[in-house]
Amino acid sequence: MSKTPFVTRDQLEQICKDYPTPFHIYDEAGIRQTARNVYKAFSWNPGFREYFAVKATPTPRILKILKEEGCGVDCSSLTELMMSDRCGFSGKEIMFSSNDTPAEEFVLADKLGATINLDDFTHIDFLEKTIGHIPETISCRFNPGGVFQLGESKEGFQVMDNPGDSKYGFTREQIFEGFKLLKAKGAKHFGIHSFLASNTISNDYYPALAAQLFELAVELKRETGADIRFINLSGGVGVPYRPEQPENDIFAIGEGVRKKYEEILVPAGMGDVAIYTEMGRYMLAPHGHLVTRAIHAKHTYKEYIGVDACAANLMRPAMYGAYHHITVMGKENAPCDHKYDVVGALCENNDKFAIDRMLPEIENGDLLVIHDTGAHGFSMGYNYNGRLRSAELLLREDGSVEMMRRAETPEDYFATLVW
Ligand SMILES: *Cc1c(COP(=O)(O)O)cnc(C)c1O
Repeated sequence: MSKTPFVTRDQLEQICKDYPTPFHIYDEAGIRQTARNVYKAFSWNPGFREYFAVKATPTPRILKILKEEGCGVDCSSLTELMMSDRCGFSGKEIMFSSNDTPAEEFVLADKLGATINLDDFTHIDFLEKTIGHIPETISCRFNPGGVFQLGESKEGFQVMDNPGDSKYGFTREQIFEGFKLLKAKGAKHFGIHSFLASNTISNDYYPALAAQLFELAVELKRETGADIRFINLSGGVGVPYRPEQPENDIFAIGEGVRKKYEEILVPAGMGDVAIYTEMGRYMLAPHGHLVTRAIHAKHTYKEYIGVDACAANLMRPAMYGAYHHITVMGKENAPCDHKYDVVGALCENNDKFAIDRMLPEIENGDLLVIHDTGAHGFSMGYNYNGRLRSAELLLREDGSVEMMRRAETPEDYFATLVW
């Protein structure tokens, strides 16, 4: 699949007159379309809800668009809870899935009426001591341990991750004991949550996860008598960052989960269980671009293009060696006959958006679109080297542009200092 920006060079040059580069820009039409597809794919399940993972794109304007499309929010911290509250989310529209949770966060989650998803067995007592009771509806995060893999082929596994090495969730034994204890303490309705693999490109991930959780739910109900109301498949549905990767088909994914539901839950008399998701990346990543301008070309042992964005604006390449596709605007059809490292200004040699990337010849002043930055992009930003975080813009459905977050100024950077 070729990657085409959702804005043209002329549009961007026009936008740059009001908003200097670098900036993140998001596509409202694309965001709404993806949300609608997700709801359509799971429309067979009357209780279905997508709780958007706020950490992926903690921007109020985006959260409100998703709210209009019927989404709730999945929060992991105090400020995400506060932001969601201010955006108008309340009660069961908020899922609180955190770990290593400070007491004040449970207090606020409870006050907002959020559904609390416990990460650990010991949090049962901690929560009860902190808020003075156990909520009527409660969820527990499950970690089956071991290795999770799917779709073995000559090229290796389609999906592979290591739950046994991850810090999250209850063990199998603990979740049985946990449900019994929670029930004894007054919980009436239960949910199960699990996150086994990140950024999966496979229509089989959710169905395979669902099958595990549905079987667990049947056993939990039988052994503990718990009234299980929802199963939360959390995040992990990925996007093709590389143009040659296939795309997930959300309709095939929804249908795959439906089949497992009919096979496992319905015969067990559990055909009223709601399916929840907490996708971040799938919902937003393709609908954001980081827009930056080439400001230097350096010729030493390699060819470098210096741009005005850096890892402080998009950390994934530096942190994980992640690939993000780059389009040189206005040169979409030019041959990719130059090999570049595309770099930012941080005093860290990993501040490279691309290494040995074949691109059209880049001149100073060219605009570059870095693709798939709509999730875990701006939000992972930081201030190393005193670099400031950029603005976030929204490309509206009518083609107009709206600022959702202004760029930081030096005064913002100095605001917490005691001189
Ligand atoms: C990060 C996270 C998500 C979102 O993950 P994506 O890969 O962006 O879909 C959902 N739930 C929890 C608990 C998370 O930590």
